[in-house]
Amino acid sequence: MKLTFLGAAGTVTGSRFLVENQGSRVLVDCGLFQGLKSLRLRNWEPFPVPPDSLDGVVLTHAHLDHSGYLPRLVREGFDGEILCTPATAKLCDILLPDSGRIHEQDAGFANKKGFSKHKPALPLYTEADALRVSARFRPVEFGEEAHVGGLAVRFQPAGHILGAATATMSSKAGTILFSGDLGRADDPLMPAPAPPGEADWIVMESTYGDRSHPDGNPAEAIGRLVRETVDRRGVILVASFAVGRAQSLVYWLNRVFELGLAPRIPVFVDSPMASDVTSLYREFSHCHRLPPEGSSAVCDGARFIRSVDESKWLGTQTNPMVVVAASGMMTGGRILHHLKTFGPRKETCILITGFQAAGTRGATLVSGGDELKIHGKYVKIRARVERIDMLSAHADQGELLEWIGSAPNRPARVFLVHGEPAAADALRVRIQDRLGIGVSVARDGESATLGDRS
Ligand SMILES: [Zn+2]
Repeated sequence: MKLTFLGAAGTVTGSRFLVENQGSRVLVDCGLFQGLKSLRLRNWEPFPVPPDSLDGVVLTHAHLDHSGYLPRLVREGFDGEILCTPATAKLCDILLPDSGRIHEQDAGFANKKGFSKHKPALPLYTEADALRVSARFRPVEFGEEAHVGGLAVRFQPAGHILGAATATMSSKAGTILFSGDLGRADDPLMPAPAPPGEADWIVMESTYGDRSHPDGNPAEAIGRLVRETVDRRGVILVASFAVGRAQSLVYWLNRVFELGLAPRIPVFVDSPMASDVTSLYREFSHCHRLPPEGSSAVCDGARFIRSVDESKWLGTQTNPMVVVAASGMMTGGRILHHLKTFGPRKETCILITGFQAAGTRGATLVSGGDELKIHGKYVKIRARVERIDMLSAHADQGELLEWIGSAPNRPARVFLVHGEPAAADALRVRIQDRLGIGVSVARDGESATLGDRS
């Protein structure tokens, strides 16, 4: 068996791993590169192997850095099946067409304003391309065995977001376990990741491999920010992934109001996609931890904005309110329009709740930058920028170590992916020292041959 790292090596986006086994080729995850322009340009490179040579794709979860290249892969000739959990398939049916629309809009906007070097600017893929992916999904329930390219595949819950899974792939040569993105042990919305099963090799994420998430109560931290912003008569602007984070924010904001930690102000989730995603929490109640009344608090605890007119109307509001909008790292979406409107006002609070990859506008704000380039123009940011790291949907260093340490056997090797170099290396040292397992930090384009009989 041969494993090749085609992305998410030395970086947190572009998850793509190729498993070759006795003449078959299976791709694990098919993500977009996001963040720095040098990374984003990689989305435009030809796929490293001909897409029609792939026997199938195994998809761990729906986040775009794992799934967002699928429309391009299908357009370029991939005609196999995409194995994933039913919730992941449903989420992708929402996320991928939206991603196609954003690519089309960005290209259209660039053409209108003439700020792209390419004439005309073309979308990476279109909504129509994304809609063609849907027919390729083969939903596989957690714990069920499915087969692709001569490999037996099994998904187990990874926490993280609705439908997220670890994927175990076995052949005569051995078993590889892909962690996908691992969630937290004690998230109020998502279950804890299932411990790893027996595996010869583990490909493991390392996003927060060098960090511990802060202790503390998110309700208190968010409550304080809401109180302070209401006192300034400002607006709280939260850049959020539409999947997972938006629902978690609505849940915690409702806790804040219920507990009386801040005056109740309107909460708007300005994302048609987040509205659709939130309704899946009712459909896939077995995939999360919320009781029925908790699901209602998430589904009914905010006003979900769909139309562009309503979104523009938000920009005219002056009373304190919370606006949650995508994208989570401010790389696109409606948050950009709100940043242009509310960012220059000093009474505004821009709340950052998630990981911000290098090169994104979110990373600029986190590092103290006070100017953002939006739609080709510079916008001066006078708003307060606040950060709450407690809502992470990713395991931290301690939780990652606990997860790998709970493996029933000692794997022959662990490959660390999906981490900036410092995070991956810190985790490598910890795993080696504490558990005595051989660990490699995956390098982009590198292959590893696994097992004697491959
Ligand atoms: Zn993810």
